[in-house]
Amino acid sequence: MSSKIISGKRFEGRVVIVTASTQGIGFSTAERFGLEGASVVISSRKQKNVDEAVEKLKAKGIKVVGVICHVSNAQQRKNLIETTVQKYGKIDVVVSNAAVSPSSDSTLETHESVLDKLWEINVKAAILLLKDAAPHMKKGSSVILISSIGGYHVHDSLAMYGVTKTALFGLTKVLAAEMAPHTRVNCIAPGFVPTHFTGFIAGNQALKKSIEDKTLLNRLGTTDDMASAVAFLASDDASYITGETLVVAGGMPSRL
Ligand code: NAP
Repeated sequence: MSSKIISGKRFEGRVVIVTASTQGIGFSTAERFGLEGASVVISSRKQKNVDEAVEKLKAKGIKVVGVICHVSNAQQRKNLIETTVQKYGKIDVVVSNAAVSPSSDSTLETHESVLDKLWEINVKAAILLLKDAAPHMKKGSSVILISSIGGYHVHDSLAMYGVTKTALFGLTKVLAAEMAPHTRVNCIAPGFVPTHFTGFIAGNQALKKSIEDKTLLNRLGTTDDMASAVAFLASDDASYITGETLVVAGGMPSRL
């Protein structure tokens, strides 16, 4: 949850959808947009999580609507878009944040059903959601895909997860071309951020230290670090940036 003092209102009058946004990076991102004046539409699979997150955001004075949306459920994706358009009449920003990492098997040992699930949630659902959203996104709108540093350096134990995240770099380029000039499409590649998703770090001090040592800034990331980068890319400050991936990883090795 944001501990920063947010003084700007870059998103006043804007409508922002963030998927998988009832905790972690998605929640902080929704919160950041909301604190900067946006009307935010949050979602995840579980009603209880949606309700709790909505209450937390409302308590901060944020204009928020919560919708159930398992991103691989076509009807729920459509409902997310329709609810947003019925309530606000448009969509200015879509942040595609949902992902799974169900297996630590090597690529050749990953079961076919797991390969399908990784593709379906981490890549295909983002495409299909944007297919539904695109007709409502007009001049000046923006899409942010949430990839991972693991898309550049695929870790052995997160092999196919990493490959789906690499795919998002390509998807960013392709969608940026297809959705130009009205909609900019960019991507962030987070480093390691303690969340439920990376719960394996919290209980392993040696692993935490080894990851911190790989950064130049000697620390793990925070969900607010990711939210700030997403907000920048969606803002008018980034109005000449499209088709790019911003690595937000404290200087961890990524690319030249
Ligand atoms: P997180 O804290 O575990 O939060 C996951 C959120 O996603 C929850 O709100 C969860 O709520 C929702 N969710 C899970 N599966 C979903 C689905 N199929 N459809 C819709 N919502 C779903 O995760 P996080 O660490 O913030 O990760 C967010 C994104 O950042 C992911 O794309 C991840 O790959 C990427 N990333 C994270 C890190 C990191 O170090 N944390 C690093 C690189 C990239 P429900 O349970 O209610 O569905």
